[in-house]
Amino acid sequence: MKFARLAILSLFAGLFGMGAYAQPAPERVVNTDIVVIGAGGAGFNAAVTAAQAKAKVIMLEKMPTIGGATIISGGSMNFPDPKLQEPKGIKDSPDIMYRQTLDAGDNRGDPALVRVLADNAPELKQWYESLGLVWADRVFEPFGGLFPRGHNSGATTAGRDYVRVLNDEAKKLGVEIRTNTRAVSLIRDGANGSVYGVKAEDKEGKITFLAKAVVIATGGFSGNVEMRMKYDPRLDKSFHTTANPSGKAVDFNTGDGILMGEHVGAELVGMDYIQLIPWYGGRAIDYVGGDVWVNSEGKRFVNEGGRRDKIADAILAAKGQFCWVITDDQSIKNSTVESKLKTGLIKKANTIEEMAKGMDMDAKVLRATLERYNKFAALKQDPDFGKTTFTQLINKPPYYYGMERENVHFTEGGLHITPRTEVLDVDGKIIPGLYAAGEVTGGVHGDNRAGGNSLAAISVFGRIAGKNAAALVAAGSDE
Ligand code: ADP
Repeated sequence: MKFARLAILSLFAGLFGMGAYAQPAPERVVNTDIVVIGAGGAGFNAAVTAAQAKAKVIMLEKMPTIGGATIISGGSMNFPDPKLQEPKGIKDSPDIMYRQTLDAGDNRGDPALVRVLADNAPELKQWYESLGLVWADRVFEPFGGLFPRGHNSGATTAGRDYVRVLNDEAKKLGVEIRTNTRAVSLIRDGANGSVYGVKAEDKEGKITFLAKAVVIATGGFSGNVEMRMKYDPRLDKSFHTTANPSGKAVDFNTGDGILMGEHVGAELVGMDYIQLIPWYGGRAIDYVGGDVWVNSEGKRFVNEGGRRDKIADAILAAKGQFCWVITDDQSIKNSTVESKLKTGLIKKANTIEEMAKGMDMDAKVLRATLERYNKFAALKQDPDFGKTTFTQLINKPPYYYGMERENVHFTEGGLHITPRTEVLDVDGKIIPGLYAAGEVTGGVHGDNRAGGNSLAAISVFGRIAGKNAAALVAAGSDE
């Protein structure tokens, strides 16, 4: 019916010359070597690497500001770094990272992609230093990281520092960054079925970018409720995302690149694997070892240093689907604690009794829990839940405590890529001219991403995408 009505309407329009007076805006077309869609961590790594190889790069960002989920992330990045790890008795290597990454994701990750991640991760230290980043002299186990190989630029800085140095370099190299410009579709079917451009929309309307290569770096689909429920029906709109914890801001991670890729024939992998993490605001630290988590009765219920999926399952199974996170004066607090103390998301208490009152639980139960936990922490052994990383006892007031609930954090599935970041179609063939990197891709993290591996993967694969896209451009201009 709808189509019939449309057809009649257009017939009338034709007959009576409707629209004859409308002045269609002239089509805007911009030519470049490479279009990178998305100005988050993966996009910037691709753009900077391609521009360093002399390619002309335009980045499209649908939001008014750059940085995506990367800029608001905790900033933990995993890479083996013997200089910092060995003095602490930590033995690490790309092989160990490879094995642990596959294990963390129950071997659902593509071994070839995990190999690329692990083998290239050590270079990230020097890569970010070359852009001007100063690493903190510290190695730690990120939440859900399962091993102490996490790094960042300091205890009080977050993902912002990576974006800052990448953006500075991009500007220096003449990368054109167009914010408020949303990519809508890919243009395919050039020579050999290649992708050769992007249709987009900005404040003035439609705009077309023609390029020799396109890199999709649009992030995941945590913020697209319909799409995530298609793959995990539990994740209805009652779950907020870590990018928009209040639910009142904008969710920019809406799976656009996955849908655009799918539309030109790309294959998707691992779409069912969606990661939740506690992000309500009660955690005062971002690493494993310095806090203890209790349920509404004041009892421990999970290994705080365990896998993110297991922790999510345990919190979702707890009464009220929440828990309390407790640390003390000795831990290294994250950058948000001061503001959370003001809003009351995190509270301070000088005694266990005062803290128990604040959490509405029996102080005797809480005291017994802490005493038992501290015994385990002293021995670095946890017969109850199998925690292995303890950085301290929790016994020095003031205590810090806050409530935690699970938010949708990261989508592990996405576009199927080769180790060279070429996008594959549903027949397993490379779609010429099309590359993808970052959270928009699938197959790297399996069914459970280790904490700290995202920033490493977006950087490693973003760089590879930039390098290969630039090589394609160079090869084309030699012809
Ligand atoms: P990654 O960690 O994989 O780099 P991020 O979330 O950091 O992912 O960055 C993805 C960026 O892509 C975000 O800034 C987001 O706003 C942007 N983005 C998403 N969809 C589009 C689109 N259709 N057009 C342009 N930019 C987009």
